[in-house]
Amino acid sequence: MANLLWLQGGACSGNTMSFLNAEEPSAVDLVTDFGINILWHPSLGVELGDNMKALMESCVSGETDLDIFVFEGSVVNAPNGTGEWNRFAGKPMKEWVRLLSDKAQFVVALGDCATYGGIPAMAPNPSESEGMQFLKRERGGFLGPDFVAKSGLPVINIPGCPAHPDWVTQILVAVASGRAGDLTLDEFQRPKTFFSSFTQTGCTRNMHFAYKVSATEFGQRKGCLFYDLGCRGPMTHSPCNRILWNRQSSKTRAGMPCLGCTEPEFPFFDLEPGTLFKTQTVMGVPKDLPTGVDKKGYIKLTGAAKAASPEWAEEDMFVV
Ligand code: SF4
Ligand code: SF4
Repeated sequence: MANLLWLQGGACSGNTMSFLNAEEPSAVDLVTDFGINILWHPSLGVELGDNMKALMESCVSGETDLDIFVFEGSVVNAPNGTGEWNRFAGKPMKEWVRLLSDKAQFVVALGDCATYGGIPAMAPNPSESEGMQFLKRERGGFLGPDFVAKSGLPVINIPGCPAHPDWVTQILVAVASGRAGDLTLDEFQRPKTFFSSFTQTGCTRNMHFAYKVSATEFGQRKGCLFYDLGCRGPMTHSPCNRILWNRQSSKTRAGMPCLGCTEPEFPFFDLEPGTLFKTQTVMGVPKDLPTGVDKKGYIKLTGAAKAASPEWAEEDMFVV
């Protein structure tokens, strides 16, 4: 039986909502089939007030084993590094985060805010938010660059805004069933099994990307969303077109550009207001090119692709 404790800092509860919608496996399966004992969770925990505080204290003292500590939301340091803006059970939340992280076998940061600071850490960052082990692209964050949990692993990051329900439950099962060693982490401490391929992998609009057939409106049944609508699918690591949302579809399949929510820079709000869903260009070439493609190559490739575009590439396609 693996004891799991889940706390929330500067968050909107989006990742909790996502977790509760998981299907393969579901949140209930974690308890009934995979031996996870949820000591407490913001929506599922039954302890309140002093009882909740006593539960956390018993994890900190070592009386109760803490196998998995999940943190959702940013670590709030305001005002002036005190963390007083986010108090929980008698002290700044960040103090609990430190104490519990030091005791846990595994620490999991869930969602963009916990992994990289997310939306709360956007400039000017009034809540002085940071992620558990990153602040945007910079390694360190609240726990510092050298932090490792008792298992020897650093914080396991599951980014996303929110993270897909099944990424959450499948990673928790791997950790709880002693297969955490199988979770090779990438440079941003994301499990590679989920985050080594691009959002574009499996997108039904790939042929339109290749032939430079562009969609200019949301939901359009043909065309790639990269050329006009700012899709970040070719630059974003996520399995959104491999592990579908609601087992049905994905943003890009449905005609909504990928916003790059699994990358540290999300939500990319250094863009000018009103330009979020517009591909940013310099002299007609997108500012952000697909990973591994340079400007010269892009111009050559897209020129040839457009010229070679077959008639069928202009046909409407069925998008789920
Ligand atoms: S819509 Fe986005 S993810 Fe799909 S092919 Fe175009 S750029 Fe790639
Ligand atoms: S399609 Fe892009 S923005 Fe949407 S959930 Fe996947 S990674 Fe995030």
